[in-house]
Amino acid sequence: MVLSLLTGTAPCPCCAYGHADSLLPVSMRNLFSGRAARAAAKASSAAATKVSGLLRIDGVTIVDPRDGSKTPNMSILMNMGRITAVVPAATEGHPSIDRIDATGKFVVPGYNDMHSHVLELEDPTGSMALMLAEGVTGFRQMSGSPALLARKAAGGLAFGPQAPQLLQTSGALITPFNAGTVEAVTEEIRRQKAAGADFIKVGLCHPEVFLAAIKVAGEVGIPILGHLQEGANALEATDLGFHSVEHLGPSATVWMCCSDDEEALSADSRRREFIKAPPFKIPFLEQIIMKRLRKLLINPAAFAQRPDIERLGQAIETFNPDKAKRTADRFVEKGTWHCPTLVRLRTQEYADRAEYRQDDMLNYLPKASIKDWEMITGKFTALPDDLKRIYDSAYPRQQMLAKFFSDAGVKMICGTDGGSYLGPGLTLKQEFKELSDAGVSPLTILQMATINAAEYLGRSDSMGVVESGRDADLVLLDADPLDSAENLHRISGVVRAGFYHSRQTLDGLKAQVASGCGYLN
Ligand SMILES: [Zn+2]
Ligand SMILES: [Zn+2]
Repeated sequence: MVLSLLTGTAPCPCCAYGHADSLLPVSMRNLFSGRAARAAAKASSAAATKVSGLLRIDGVTIVDPRDGSKTPNMSILMNMGRITAVVPAATEGHPSIDRIDATGKFVVPGYNDMHSHVLELEDPTGSMALMLAEGVTGFRQMSGSPALLARKAAGGLAFGPQAPQLLQTSGALITPFNAGTVEAVTEEIRRQKAAGADFIKVGLCHPEVFLAAIKVAGEVGIPILGHLQEGANALEATDLGFHSVEHLGPSATVWMCCSDDEEALSADSRRREFIKAPPFKIPFLEQIIMKRLRKLLINPAAFAQRPDIERLGQAIETFNPDKAKRTADRFVEKGTWHCPTLVRLRTQEYADRAEYRQDDMLNYLPKASIKDWEMITGKFTALPDDLKRIYDSAYPRQQMLAKFFSDAGVKMICGTDGGSYLGPGLTLKQEFKELSDAGVSPLTILQMATINAAEYLGRSDSMGVVESGRDADLVLLDADPLDSAENLHRISGVVRAGFYHSRQTLDGLKAQVASGCGYLN
């Protein structure tokens, strides 16, 4: 029922982001108004100088994410945003070449944040600068709208060299409000494909609609991904071709397939209440829901209902490694991707921890976002102790599952859910740490952020490796990134579209965003 949405059952911020966006009247979507208009102007002027001229970086050790091999003392030559040669250092360059002496540094391909909501922001340029400062050169936008797709079609989403590249975006999230029935979801998927969506993103829908949507997307020829749905079997969705699972589920959807209690838990999941849109128009309903969802997106864990939290706890407690291996094998067999977004799971489930009151990202967020975060954290803090204990014990197990799937060969990419409540860029640093703490090796983390993202996108020929012919998107590091995940973020410079940004420049961008309370001034 709609009321259940108002009282809170959304499992993840994606739902809320997508709902909020799709429910907004076009005039309120902020894509071309106020601060956003200035952002669009900034973006379009930057896009006019999209790629650099000649650039050369000397003296570096190149790290190959494919096998972890390192080639010391190399020069990288770039032109028009592409790597044109990778050669032993000390060859003479053309006088017009910008030459960077990076002796002793390590170079890896630029990082890709494959779960971002940064374009939800009224003015995303500050957040994208933060992403660049943390080595993010590409991102997958995980929710859109008709207006965003129109802007994409008009070439308005090329943000220039001070921002990462938009790799892919969905249209509006699939929800009961645009896909309440099989007929409606069929129409919506066809409409989004025609409008230029790169994929269909499922937020929240009835299990029957969900499974039908996967079939329709397959017939139409567009990837479908996002949230697995309560009441629908995760492996059935996998078999039908669900392309990418976010947040390890979310909720208990994947855990149930790894549980000794799968049958009982699945039956319980099927019995839960599912959100339905009303068959008739209710005045102001959209505005009311939008207001509610804006709060939900800050921390869905604070709003989840007891049966859903308890089902997650029970599924985790009855984890069976043999079943989990069979589940992982099925993901491998079907080529299903996983984007665990551990940083998002952690901030949801540990929301009231003292460390989040002193987190570095607070220096870069809009004041209104911080105020909202504090308010919702108060709600989370007030949850009954038994539910908070479930969350408390869930997070380390979710880390374990990410490592388990990685070890089992499941295809994995890095994502953060970064947006106005999770500092973009900084969250990728935290995601690396969470994966590392889970036991994932620095090389595997590097692969998730580079070659795996390239494979996911079907761009293995142009991304993910530092060699001639690839995109000139690079991260320069002060220390060997294969020694520790921390070194993946000891960034001395970033090359985006062939433009070099020194540490000093990147720090300058961060300082601007800090002084602008989340925005570039
Ligand atoms: Zn999301
Ligand atoms: Zn999500």
